[in-house]
Amino acid sequence: MGFDCSVCPGYCCSHARIAVTDHDVRRLARHFGLSERAARARFTYHYRTKEIDEQLLRHRRDHVYKSVCRFLDPKTRRCGVYEARPNVCRKYPYGNRCGYYAFLKFEREFHDDPQFVPSA
Ligand code: SF4
Ligand code: SF4
Repeated sequence: MGFDCSVCPGYCCSHARIAVTDHDVRRLARHFGLSERAARARFTYHYRTKEIDEQLLRHRRDHVYKSVCRFLDPKTRRCGVYEARPNVCRKYPYGNRCGYYAFLKFEREFHDDPQFVPSA
């Protein structure tokens, strides 16, 4: 595997548009024992422009990336709904390499600083 999420503070979870499907919302609803409607309102919002029409995961403020998915645990930097995470999160980074991990590894080695971008 060309990346190691355990040393990364969850950059992929800071993407502004983490789109979910109806199936993803139903899985989150089951996980939290909520109705689909309640889960949709609590965890997602509708984002629409001329070109885009998506249901996105809500964010919260973050000390590393300013803003991250509301489910990212701020202390452990791990997904707080791992078993119920949306499909897009299961697939990311769509292969056996992660560009951000390569950047992190390079910069930490270059600066000789394992906390270049703190991992917690
Ligand atoms: S950005 Fe890459 S290394 Fe970091 S958590 Fe996401 S997939 Fe893992
Ligand atoms: S659901 Fe989990 S894996 Fe997906 S963006 Fe949120 S914290 Fe990251």
